Amino acid sequence: MSGGEELLRSRGLRVTRPRLAVLDVLSAGGHLEVDEITRRVRERLDSVSTQAVYDVLGALSRAGLSRRIEPAGSPARYEARAGDNHHHVVCRGCGEIADIDCAVGEKPCLDPNTAHGFEVDEAEVTFWGLCPTCQARRSADD
Ligand SMILES: [Zn+2]
Ligand SMILES: [Zn+2]
Ligand SMILES: [Zn+2]
Repeated sequence: MSGGEELLRSRGLRVTRPRLAVLDVLSAGGHLEVDEITRRVRERLDSVSTQAVYDVLGALSRAGLSRRIEPAGSPARYEARAGDNHHHVVCRGCGEIADIDCAVGEKPCLDPNTAHGFEVDEAEVTFWGLCPTCQARRSADD
């Protein structure tokens, strides 16, 4: 049994070839757009519709096997690193995304001074800046 099969079974998900292929693509790391995931899945399986990939990503996300992020101005992206409440730093220049460990590790890792009676269960933290490549490009332009 492959690691992917074990993962799916451990979360009570049926093992299917598209699910295994998507898990495999995500396990390579990074924050991938659905188009990119679909392209890579099709390198492994012949006919997989984009809708099927969306369905798989939905099932994996609900089972805690993948995480969906959607930084402002960017299409949704998916990653295998789920459940550790890590944060992201996004480059304003090129959209590059990197992981930032959460110092606390659990939601919500920030406590608002006043929550207006809301029961807060998550703080969505996104850091914005310029990646090393874009910094170098900027200084070259100066
Ligand atoms: Zn950049
Ligand atoms: Zn991430
Ligand atoms: Zn945090």
